[in-house]
Amino acid sequence: MKKKAIEKVPFLGLTRRSRKKAVKYIGVTAVKIIGHERHLFTEVYLNQKDRMDVPLVRIVLTKKDFGTYFPEKGFWSRGRIRGTTWSNSDLIWYEHDERIMRASDYAAECILSTPEDLARIKKFCCDRKDANYAWKWKDANWWTYIDDVQSGISAKEQAKRSRRSYERRQQALKEREDNTPEIDEEQILDYADRVLFHNKHYLYYKKHGVRVRVACSKCGGVTERRWKQGLSYESQLEPMIDEPRQGYYGICPLCGLTAEWLAQGNVQFRSRFKGHIFVGQRYKTTGMVFRYFKVEKSYLLGLMEEKGQPVMGNACEELSGVEIARAYFEAGKDIQKDYHKGSPYGGNDYWDDCNLYGLSNISIREAPIFSGTYDAMQGTILQYSAMQEYETAKGICINPVEYAERYLQTPQIEMLTKLGLIKVVDRLMECRYGIVADVNANRVDAFLGIRKEHIRLLIRHQGEESILNILQTEKRLEQHWTDEQIENLAELSLEDRNGWTDVLEHMGVQKVLNLIEKYAGVKYGTGRSCATEKLRTVAQTYFDYINMRQALGYDMSNSVYLAPRDLNAAHQTMVMESNQAQIDKRIMEVDIAYPLIKAHYRRLRRKFFYEDENFVIRPARSAGEIVMEGRILHHCVGGDRYLGKHNDDISTILFLRPTTEPDVPYITVEIGTADLMLMQWYGEYDTKPDQENINRWLKSYINRLKCGMNGAGEDVGDETGQQAPAMLA
Ligand SMILES: [Zn+2]
Repeated sequence: MKKKAIEKVPFLGLTRRSRKKAVKYIGVTAVKIIGHERHLFTEVYLNQKDRMDVPLVRIVLTKKDFGTYFPEKGFWSRGRIRGTTWSNSDLIWYEHDERIMRASDYAAECILSTPEDLARIKKFCCDRKDANYAWKWKDANWWTYIDDVQSGISAKEQAKRSRRSYERRQQALKEREDNTPEIDEEQILDYADRVLFHNKHYLYYKKHGVRVRVACSKCGGVTERRWKQGLSYESQLEPMIDEPRQGYYGICPLCGLTAEWLAQGNVQFRSRFKGHIFVGQRYKTTGMVFRYFKVEKSYLLGLMEEKGQPVMGNACEELSGVEIARAYFEAGKDIQKDYHKGSPYGGNDYWDDCNLYGLSNISIREAPIFSGTYDAMQGTILQYSAMQEYETAKGICINPVEYAERYLQTPQIEMLTKLGLIKVVDRLMECRYGIVADVNANRVDAFLGIRKEHIRLLIRHQGEESILNILQTEKRLEQHWTDEQIENLAELSLEDRNGWTDVLEHMGVQKVLNLIEKYAGVKYGTGRSCATEKLRTVAQTYFDYINMRQALGYDMSNSVYLAPRDLNAAHQTMVMESNQAQIDKRIMEVDIAYPLIKAHYRRLRRKFFYEDENFVIRPARSAGEIVMEGRILHHCVGGDRYLGKHNDDISTILFLRPTTEPDVPYITVEIGTADLMLMQWYGEYDTKPDQENINRWLKSYINRLKCGMNGAGEDVGDETGQQAPAMLA
């Protein structure tokens, strides 16, 4: 866009306003030649008397480019004429607001000044063929023609950009490939054979009589030997071998190498073993590349047929490797991983800078590291990573790519590894940075948030998480504990979220430890797992007990509460009290949520109360009472559904109880308040005890209700209703 030249072109100006009230904006167009190129100018003016000189916007379009100038702000936008996000599809001169606009709304508000303007736009924007079509709706939404051209230009630019970015990536990929040093394949396969397959060879054998046929996978030779001494003199001169035994090791009579005996009958045609190996190399000046190889070893035994029998003809073994991924580390750059794609065995394979999705996704896992790797690390950014120390300390395979990545992100890993805090490093490898107190700290104690004097203790335990946990708690609570106390606390595997530290406000840590030891009846630090288990269980019970007692509002400075004689009994009591407290809480809540149950009680009692020599029936006094009934009988009447219906006078919950025991919940009945229909009745656990009898009793009760014969009549008796006289027919 030749912006300066375009800005110099005088505004076209609006010559005539529209009298239509709905019209807010009017577009005026012109084609101008700027720098030998045709430019379509579309200026949009407010349909107001004093706004006819300066447009809101000037939209300029060429075949290859577009831009919109806002004269008032003197600012250029690269936005399209129509917004392209889901939340904004307004035209560019609109102030974006919350109105929901349809295409017809825009068409009513925005018009072109003259039919020539529309023709000009169409001629500029459409191919001749398109222009012949009478797109009525498009003519009304005239900006669509401009938008189509703009969208085509944007798409072309986008394609160009992504092609450029692809080319850049391919170039970088090629550059990495070219800078990756050659490897000595034989040396690496040798190493892999040793560490992955333990240089294993097979001696295949088949006995017949005193002789045995032997085939060696290493040298490929086949021979027949005597394994059992014969009686004849000649046979004693024949060379002998030890008796072959499947799974044992023997020496190949041909090449002299040690190999495992494998009976011919037990051989699979081809047996194959797989493994992975890392080779680290210096990359460019101070970088490092880790190359991940898949190595395969396969053993073959060739059989021939002789007199209808399979006979061993030859044997061999094959070692092959293919590189499947590379990870590049360079100073000041993000780690770059390249992957070998296509079929690495056949042709058609190539390197790519992104992984595959789904099943063919290549994952880089722990594997042995080629011995030359650590020498190659000298002078690179990984020289001080202590990777070798970490691998040695672990004693098993590590993932050097992950280690290097984490080390470059958290250089303190060198110090942690060298101090022997291996388990802390393990956590960081798993990206569990929650254990870090200050990622920027240079000192171990500050990094982990523990007391300096306890670093040695942590090292003694290789950075064990349970110890670290207690040490962090100690520091946070500003306590000073002895090594022994810390080890004992760690044995209990306490976690902060159990709320165990609350008890320290009332009791010293040693006293807590002693109590748990006393309750458990076993000592700390025995190294026996059953003793540790016992201590843990007891600790859990104890802190559970303390938490409940505290939550129930007991005075925790009372030593009787802190150290109950019988922990299990005290725990049980607290469980029960807590349950009770929960019930009370629910009752209070429902009484507030359903107040009308209580308010309706007297009226409902007049209607529904009935008593004979067997049963008494009455409505619930309150929502809380219904909840209690549900709890005691273990059915669902205490739920919000029934409470709501009773509260809203839709149905009434009635309690049916033996006349002799009017306070003991027995049967719960739901009756339609207006129509007096029996909706349901249940005893405990949703059963129907004494079903026939109860059904008959309820039927006659409801008949009475319908005849208006029941009810306590006058409001008599107190709230319990027990003194109410029976109203018998
Ligand atoms: Zn051999």
